[in-house]
Amino acid sequence: MLFAQAQPPLTDLLTLNLPAMRHFVRSLGWPEYRARQILRWIYRKRARSVGLMTDLSRAEREELGATARIARVDHVDVRRSADGTRKLLARLDDGLLVESVLIPERRWLTLCLSTQVGCTLDCGFCLTGRMGLKRNLRAHEIVDQVLTVQDRLEPGETLTNLVLMGMGEPLANLDAVSDAITRVTNTEWGLGIPARRITLSTAGLATRLNEIAALGINLAISLNATTNAQRDRLMPAVNRMHPLDELLDACRAYPLPARRRLTFEYVLLAGVNDTEQDARRLAKLLNGMRCKVNLIPFNEFPGSPYRRPDEATILTFQALLKRAGFDVFIRKSKGRDVLGACGQLGRVASVRATPALTPIEIGC
Ligand code: SAH
Repeated sequence: MLFAQAQPPLTDLLTLNLPAMRHFVRSLGWPEYRARQILRWIYRKRARSVGLMTDLSRAEREELGATARIARVDHVDVRRSADGTRKLLARLDDGLLVESVLIPERRWLTLCLSTQVGCTLDCGFCLTGRMGLKRNLRAHEIVDQVLTVQDRLEPGETLTNLVLMGMGEPLANLDAVSDAITRVTNTEWGLGIPARRITLSTAGLATRLNEIAALGINLAISLNATTNAQRDRLMPAVNRMHPLDELLDACRAYPLPARRRLTFEYVLLAGVNDTEQDARRLAKLLNGMRCKVNLIPFNEFPGSPYRRPDEATILTFQALLKRAGFDVFIRKSKGRDVLGACGQLGRVASVRATPALTPIEIGC
């Protein structure tokens, strides 16, 4: 009786970074330069099949096809907000959903990336924080969010900026994030997006800040409070680990490159952290730092315990900081009708119930 021979599982080429790809081509007995060639097809040309790699011979393509594949996500649901923001929900291998948000604004087209499904942290004003951590994303799952969006750009659109401000705490998944950033920034075979156009936002894992400096990308810190008592209430897990003074010391010690500055994000919650006293305390805490401040008026979500301050309060808060000499921006909340704005990612079930949704592409 004949038994079918068990096939070894195919290697997913998307999971391999440069050193791993080198190792893989060596295992085939191929010269090392093939590694960069294959990576170029995957990232620069967004090839989904080894059959397309025309600078390999037909025999090589067949050999590669017999041992490897490119497992890009193929279930993507795109929801378009009335303001042009697009939220993409991609289904991962294990059925979990990862969210990315594409935000068009004047001459910029920014993609907000997720680094975890759910989040390690438990900030009470953030919908993602309420899901708990489902799992860390792997490097290729972070980069695949960029590839997926690039496949769906409209004619004339080019991605200009990346922000790691979606679901999750990027510094709690640093290895995968660094690997992903390397693939995104590499100009020879990677996506070639300049590091200066990439910003990582952390809730304040103070001891890991320096590793961001090594990547050359920009750093944003979600401060959100001006006293430990306040921050303990709003962001308990992270502030217990790294209280305010420790976090600010780490920010002061951060090896900021010339002509760069830190960004401090501050979610404005009505009656909680939006008083004139808070603004004055914030100015004092940031005194002397090379930084700008992004105020994010709270984006409400179903069941959220906080409220967005009124316009006058937001403007007064901004004016006080400006008077103290800071550049202060009020972040426009884009994509609120598709729950794609800051702090609204997660809980897809409630997103599906939102009436303003326009699903334009399902399971493509
Ligand atoms: N964990 C990282 C990355 C998430 S970025 C971090 O905390 O920085 C998300 C940003 O949106 C953070 O600045 C966070 O403070 C802010 N945010 C979270 N929930 C929000 C909400 N409901 N409304 C407005 N901003 C919110």
